[in-house]
Amino acid sequence: MTSLLDIRATSPRNWKYIAEGGSSIVFSYTGPPHPSFDDMALRLRKALLSSPSRLVSPSSLTLQVEDPEDPAIAFQREVVARVLPAEYLLRLEAVEVSHAWLEELAALTEERRPTERRAKGAIDVHKRRAVLTRDLVDGRVFTVEIKPKWGFLPSPTHLAPDTASVKTTTCRFCMHAHTRGVLDADVAQAYCPLDLFSGEEVRVRQALHALWDAWVSTSGMANSLRIFVQGQTVRPDASPLSIQPLASQLGLPDEFTLFTVRDAFVSQVLPLLLETSLLRILSNLQSTLDPLDIEGLSLLWSRANPSREPLQTQSPDDGAPSAPPLGSGLSDPTIDDWKQFLGIYLAKNSQMDHDHPDIADLKYYCLAYLLSATFKDCSIMFRIPEDGRGSISVIDLDIKPIDRLQKWEKLDREIVEVYKNAWKPRQCVAVGSGY
Ligand SMILES: [Zn+2]
Repeated sequence: MTSLLDIRATSPRNWKYIAEGGSSIVFSYTGPPHPSFDDMALRLRKALLSSPSRLVSPSSLTLQVEDPEDPAIAFQREVVARVLPAEYLLRLEAVEVSHAWLEELAALTEERRPTERRAKGAIDVHKRRAVLTRDLVDGRVFTVEIKPKWGFLPSPTHLAPDTASVKTTTCRFCMHAHTRGVLDADVAQAYCPLDLFSGEEVRVRQALHALWDAWVSTSGMANSLRIFVQGQTVRPDASPLSIQPLASQLGLPDEFTLFTVRDAFVSQVLPLLLETSLLRILSNLQSTLDPLDIEGLSLLWSRANPSREPLQTQSPDDGAPSAPPLGSGLSDPTIDDWKQFLGIYLAKNSQMDHDHPDIADLKYYCLAYLLSATFKDCSIMFRIPEDGRGSISVIDLDIKPIDRLQKWEKLDREIVEVYKNAWKPRQCVAVGSGY
């Protein structure tokens, strides 16, 4: 009945743990030659650890048994591929997996996973489908993964007076990094996405230096930058020997330092970032899909649900019974909802009066915000062969569930509250002049 590939044609021992994000884990095929699995990577969904003994699947991502493909595949084909050029997208293929096979893989690879990731989730062994895609870290290449995050400053139109000055001065990523205590005192040296997205050589170089420095100082555990050489994740430490594979790949002589490797690394990656139009496309998608900011979306929601006061006037322990949280009552969009939404976005978004949003468009703005979040959270993979030009792909283009809206609304308020008290707000420079 189905012609799906079956992962059980391979042994779990033939799959090597590569990396993971919040919602998925990636493995590379390392087994004997196989026409369907050579040079392929397996992407598995994670289940969140809600308590020490209980794993739960995110409801919106739970697959119906009869569903012939992972929702991620339909989402990429019907939504993402209509706004991102095909050259940046990997072909995704559904593959059948089994409970026993996944459990064996999990048992074999669990100890390779970072401790902090293990505390939050694990392979969802109840899935029956997974995604097979091209392995971007195999062979004689080095691969750079950058998670660029938010590449725009919001329009002040719908911001409250006391948040507008903060949000239009410091970008969302820098505010969030500050509240998480990630930034040290030397804020000016830290990574700002607006530099990476700027298209200006000096600023892009500065962003790469900042990403590199954070990569070194966190032993490669910061998730904004990952480097893989010939299938292995490079984990830097204080010793230059830790990055010997990268130095060799970059053609450096035996005598090298962290700084000479950094410079060689930046020399390889900088031209790719300056030449590609991908960052401009991503920034444009992020901002045009989020024209109101979460504050404006919250105000629109409150107008449509008059029993609810805008969030900023509520007490910190909000949650009065009569106040439906942002997005509550809305179902997770189906693929048909997404197709309909995208038709309107492509035809009308640029002509809509976002300064005066219509309550009738509330669902449109909610879906737009969700899709914006997909592009705010994706990663870019630069695959750089020893003797040729690199290729660029976008990965981690996940569907965001609708119940995230209320979490993002709360998080936004918390971040801005903390950041208002920053002793020295960072002056992030808007993207624009470089394009
Ligand atoms: Zn910034």
